[in-house]
Amino acid sequence: MTQTTDHTTPSSLPGQPFIAYQGHALFVEEVSLQALATQYGTPLFVYSKAAMLSALAAYQRGFEGRQAQICYAMKANSTLGVLQVFANAGCGFDIVSGGELERVLAAGGDARKVIFSGVGKTPAEMRQALKAGIGCFNVESEAELDVLSEQALGLHMVAPISIRVNPNVDPKTHPYISTGLKDNKFGVAHEDALRIYRHAASLKGLKVVGIDCHIGSQITDSRPYLDAMDRMLDLVAAIEAAGIAIEHIDFGGGLGINYNNDEPPAADALWALLLAKLDERGYGERKIMIEPGRSLIGNAGVCVTEVLYTKPGEEKNFCIIDAAMNDLPRPSLYQAFHAIVPLNTADRGRTTQTYDVVGPICESGDWIGRERALAVAPGDCLAVLSAGAYCMSMASNYNTRGRAAEVLVDGGKVNLIRQRESVKDQMRNELQALGG
Ligand SMILES: *Cc1c(COP(=O)(O)O)cnc(C)c1O
Repeated sequence: MTQTTDHTTPSSLPGQPFIAYQGHALFVEEVSLQALATQYGTPLFVYSKAAMLSALAAYQRGFEGRQAQICYAMKANSTLGVLQVFANAGCGFDIVSGGELERVLAAGGDARKVIFSGVGKTPAEMRQALKAGIGCFNVESEAELDVLSEQALGLHMVAPISIRVNPNVDPKTHPYISTGLKDNKFGVAHEDALRIYRHAASLKGLKVVGIDCHIGSQITDSRPYLDAMDRMLDLVAAIEAAGIAIEHIDFGGGLGINYNNDEPPAADALWALLLAKLDERGYGERKIMIEPGRSLIGNAGVCVTEVLYTKPGEEKNFCIIDAAMNDLPRPSLYQAFHAIVPLNTADRGRTTQTYDVVGPICESGDWIGRERALAVAPGDCLAVLSAGAYCMSMASNYNTRGRAAEVLVDGGKVNLIRQRESVKDQMRNELQALGG
């Protein structure tokens, strides 16, 4: 680790108080990212445990004195070491597959605090979750109710359920990550909900325990949540008037983070508004569940990558890095923005140029950032910020690239939580072709 002589105060990056420059070097908590890059190689995901717990604490403060359960939506980042931090902090988990349930149990999570979402649960996944004793199935269609009831009866069990209702509010986010409008595949329509609740209550293998919604992702405005809350409470009133008790209301996840001058409400501020509305409408005592993913882990992680080449061009300059769309899929999937900053800001005689930052994958869609001003040369390292959520959990092996290593930083302590994937790891399940 190079010690800088510059003793300026640490300057943290927007929205990422645990990721800051000390002098000219970028640190996660008390650990230099350049030191980690040297030790573990690149590309490398680095997470701040303090940032994760601080994001969680904002929700916990918001719910102080209330009956609430925070279920981390683990599809955002399902690495065991990440799950362990949240499990130890008392979180439940929102899962979307039997595989995710196995991960929760392997990380020491409590099955009773697991809720199971998703439009395509298989009978085998339902039985697995019933046997594990999960807290609630968030059912997304009428047909799923019948299948789940049948599976539960086959095991002489009763499945606790809520029905995911589509409140039909527009969260003003990217179309791929908006889920609460009428024309998408999630949940049941608001106007069908009461009838479907009656159907659920008639099935012997089910016990209605709640209602849920999830209106989208990267939501940076409180308004759609408040609208969804009103729509949901109208339904709760109607369902309870029909004699079906609703023990908990699950508001899903979706709160945004700061990627690029985004200004989402703080979790505690958002929930102060939502709880005031619940109180106002007489539901303040009701148990609340939430399913945050991105807002718990997104800004706790960075991806460290090395510059391989700079390639000047007539129209564009390219900065070719060793991380790619297989590691960081959000730009190619959603045209998403990730800030990209140098690990070392000392003046080393590099000229600042505008680059498209791209990976080595043979696809034009393999870009990580467009038109970024950077002063870099081959061998320098960069940090792709806000890379904690929907990066490693969406990583692939395209171009036979092994998935990156992951490190969890806790103060000055460094904890390798995933080894870099080898080509041998990738080929493990493949068999010789008959007759070659
Ligand atoms: C993805 C998802 C979440 C988490 O969304 P974030 O935007 O990461 O908070 C919560 N609930 C359900 C049902 C989801 O599919």
